[in-house]
Amino acid sequence: MKNFADLGLEPKVLQAITELGFEEATPIQAQSIPIAMSGRDMIGQAQTGTGKTAAFGIPLINKISKDTDKIVALVMTPTRELAIQVAEEIGKLTRFKGIGSLPIYGGQDIGRQIRALKKKPQIIIGTPGRLLDHINRKTIRLDDVETVILDEADEMLDMGFMEDIQSILKLVPDERQTMLFSATMPPNIQKLAQQFLKNPEHVSVVPKQVSAPLIDQAYIEVPERQKFEALCRLIDMESPELAIVFGRTKRRVDELSEALQKRGYSADGLHGDLSQNQRDTVMRKFRDGSIDVLVATDVAARGLDVSGVTHVVNFDLPQDPESYVHRIGRTGRAGKEGTAWSFVTPREIDHLHLIERVTRHRITRKPLPTLAEAIEGKQRIIAERLLETIESGELNEYKGLAIQLLEQYDSVQLLSGAMKMLTGEKRDSEIQLTPEDPIRVKRRYNNGKPDLRNGRKPSGNYGGFRGGNSGGGGRGGYNRDRDNNGGRGGYNRSNSSGGGRSDSSYRDSGDRKPRTNSGEGRRPSKRDDSYNS
Ligand code: ADP
Ligand code: MG
Repeated sequence: MKNFADLGLEPKVLQAITELGFEEATPIQAQSIPIAMSGRDMIGQAQTGTGKTAAFGIPLINKISKDTDKIVALVMTPTRELAIQVAEEIGKLTRFKGIGSLPIYGGQDIGRQIRALKKKPQIIIGTPGRLLDHINRKTIRLDDVETVILDEADEMLDMGFMEDIQSILKLVPDERQTMLFSATMPPNIQKLAQQFLKNPEHVSVVPKQVSAPLIDQAYIEVPERQKFEALCRLIDMESPELAIVFGRTKRRVDELSEALQKRGYSADGLHGDLSQNQRDTVMRKFRDGSIDVLVATDVAARGLDVSGVTHVVNFDLPQDPESYVHRIGRTGRAGKEGTAWSFVTPREIDHLHLIERVTRHRITRKPLPTLAEAIEGKQRIIAERLLETIESGELNEYKGLAIQLLEQYDSVQLLSGAMKMLTGEKRDSEIQLTPEDPIRVKRRYNNGKPDLRNGRKPSGNYGGFRGGNSGGGGRGGYNRDRDNNGGRGGYNRSNSSGGGRSDSSYRDSGDRKPRTNSGEGRRPSKRDDSYNS
């Protein structure tokens, strides 16, 4: 049972989950939520980044009645940053239900916290030290608390909060539900659990060790708001035959595939909200090569078996190492080589190292492709296509005009003009993606608000062709269908290895994609600089 909708949550909570963009419960969530909802005590163990906050937050919010004005739930966290972070997530989850929550931590003016407490929040998320402070001042009473959560319990104990936690827990009524979450389970946690939890159910999600050796793995450190530009450059530079780009949420997938289309790439998105019919259409287009960038969520891509995927891009890092392995396993199939790129925001570097440790595979750091490399990549493809055409095609009908033009113009100039035309100008459509929060691993970071500035670019001018189309339709009007051009003479020379990939994406003037889909021909000279003008 992985679907949030199957968990028997009330609609307002479900709505909040949808709003957060969570598509599916993570393993720890799928296991914890039913137990938490049954009212039992529990211990949940899973590594960082696996969604433990929502694992306790969702059932907690589901359980609390909005009519009470007492403190009925207490969440303890080790640090101020974590208290804020958990409070933020709880805040988002309570949005539609209208329950109050408040973070309480040291370092903030206590008077201000006392004023906020007068608004009668039902959920307190606090660090042990400051909580005790309020308890002693009688500004917080725990007499009505029905649920206690010890979050990141191992870190709390590491930080020396054992005694504080014990003192606090003794003040909470015995008739309560206690849940403990931790990434690791050292003996002192077990001791704490024995003392304060009643016959707890244990849930643990241990990552499997897996690796995929034929895949070349690299990462690029890039700020959230520059990810889109980085993706465009990467695609230009690498010109993948078939790429899968992974986004964290459905919203991300929608926005990203639309943005890529706007920039002139043949891309489409796949996520769990699409009907079977829509999914089939997207997959068919991807398989036959009429789109060559598939943007997908983990869920949508699961079990997806397409041969010939040359590149996987983790536009957002996955939650857990296992999905990382799953994702990159979409490429490098059947003994073929594949490349996996991951975008890592500065705050997520630790999470990347965690993935490296678990997968026991080093992920090489690469610089962000430069604009020059992106352009070079595009031009290389154009040159390859040009040479392919010369080698394969019957060119006689063009030769007369070619000779005439050469009498008037310089050959280098003519050829450059032709290549420029084929490359197409970059469409600098303004792209704004909703930023995703970084995946957090180490809590020492200052987890401020996510950067809300978007990757806004100055919008350049691009001549009057249409914006990207969002589906298969709408292309017809501009169709210069080269496939009909005698079949073999055009740019889409069909060849044996490219079977089934005859190009339908490279057709209308709106699709100035600087590459061929014919599969063969550009591979041998991928790094051949001799084409560069
Ligand atoms: P942990 O406490 O296990 O380290 P968090 O609860 O902090 O992990 O979650 C890490 C990130 O994953 C957060 O940004 C959170 O919003 C996100 N997240 C949690 N559950 C899901 C889900 N089901 N789908 C997608 N993202 C999720
Ligand atoms: Mg956590």
